[in-house]
Amino acid sequence: MSCVSYPYEAPVSQKLFERASIVTPGGVNSPVRAFKAVGGTPRFMVSGTGPYLTDADGREYVDLVCSWGPMILGHSHPAVLKAVHEAVARGTSFGTPGEGEVELAEEIVRRIAPVEQVRLVSSGTEATMSAIRLARGFTGRAKVVKFAGCYHGHVDALLAAAGSGVATFGLPDTPGVTGAQAGDTIVLPYNDLDAVRAAFAANPGAIACVITEASPGNMGVVPPLPGFNHGLAQLCRENGALFISDEVMTGFRVSKAGWYGLEAAREGWAPDLLTFGKVMGGGFPAAAFGGRAEVMAYLAPAGPVYQAGTLSGNPVATAAGLAQLRHCTDEVYATVDRVSAEVSGLVSEALAKEGVAHRVQRAGNMFSVFFTERPVIDYDRAKAQEAFRFTAFFHSMLAQGVYLPPSAFESWFVSSAHDAQAVERIAAALPAAARAAAEARPA
Ligand SMILES: *Cc1c(COP(=O)(O)O)cnc(C)c1O
Repeated sequence: MSCVSYPYEAPVSQKLFERASIVTPGGVNSPVRAFKAVGGTPRFMVSGTGPYLTDADGREYVDLVCSWGPMILGHSHPAVLKAVHEAVARGTSFGTPGEGEVELAEEIVRRIAPVEQVRLVSSGTEATMSAIRLARGFTGRAKVVKFAGCYHGHVDALLAAAGSGVATFGLPDTPGVTGAQAGDTIVLPYNDLDAVRAAFAANPGAIACVITEASPGNMGVVPPLPGFNHGLAQLCRENGALFISDEVMTGFRVSKAGWYGLEAAREGWAPDLLTFGKVMGGGFPAAAFGGRAEVMAYLAPAGPVYQAGTLSGNPVATAAGLAQLRHCTDEVYATVDRVSAEVSGLVSEALAKEGVAHRVQRAGNMFSVFFTERPVIDYDRAKAQEAFRFTAFFHSMLAQGVYLPPSAFESWFVSSAHDAQAVERIAAALPAAARAAAEARPA
């Protein structure tokens, strides 16, 4: 840990964190929330409105995490809240099919051409886990190719060289995942088609699927090089494997049709399966996976591959997701794109003024800052950044009321509610934070 001071106390959050740490491992329910990578007291939030969060000490922050992506319309959007209130008033779970699920599935199928059928689940983890099971069931093959630094949720078989929380903690792997569970996983460097070609050659007829983040955001933002995703799709087709594009983060965020809309749709090709989560739940646990009907037909009860969930297609979650998607108009995406360009430009300007070596990397309206000058195209390059500068930068921003992802290996997110006033607050905080980054020294 580098020697940063924490200029503001957060006594109520500190007390809550102490209580939480007694009854919950590490005091949190998802590791990155614990601030381990940056130190200090995690802020316990009590409310969110538009672009702002308010913590238990009564301090307000401009939120650049947006619940790790889902809150694309900002917090407490009136249309989403209204849909939720109406759904709750009708009852919260029936364990039967309902019209809301059909509407949400239709909305997804309408937006994303290669998705002919979709299955709703409750988390991104479930979506990728189920997509991989389906790919294995469909192809009758065992092996899965993934890329170092790509995170697909905490699926046992995919917790090898995963990014995000795993990157934050520098764990190459995790105890509790057995050799049998990870043994069929082949981990390759991102953006390296030759490595994929070699893997197919070395494992003839054995690879069920290649899974990749459509555009990675879990090692910081590392977009695919031109032709990489298309190349993966082609190699999969040539070798009888399925191509799974994980759009849990990018789906319905970077465009109406996610990364698919920005890339594959324009280039005229399609993944076999896609996974979704985050934005599509409107802040509730709703996620999905889908693809060609011929492949999806292998899922129970239509086919033999088992997959289920007590709360899958939950009426409150689907109402929230549907309301959010319906309000994600072209205008919303234009605003999110503009604000993201503005904020990332301001960050870059402030860091340059202080002579801090950095790169802002962008993928649609997702972006992150790497404290290095070298282009980051894979996980090794991402890890080579001067992350200690981020720690100092983060705490200065936090002290000035701007809430950044508490790790140098995460995407930043804005919403359509980030107005001029919110951007102004970010701009005002940047000079001091850039200075702190310039003055930071490694631990
Ligand atoms: C967040 C994320 C997941 C996991 O989703 P959860 O809802 O947290 O289980 C999977 N894949 C990607 C690309 C993600 O960003």
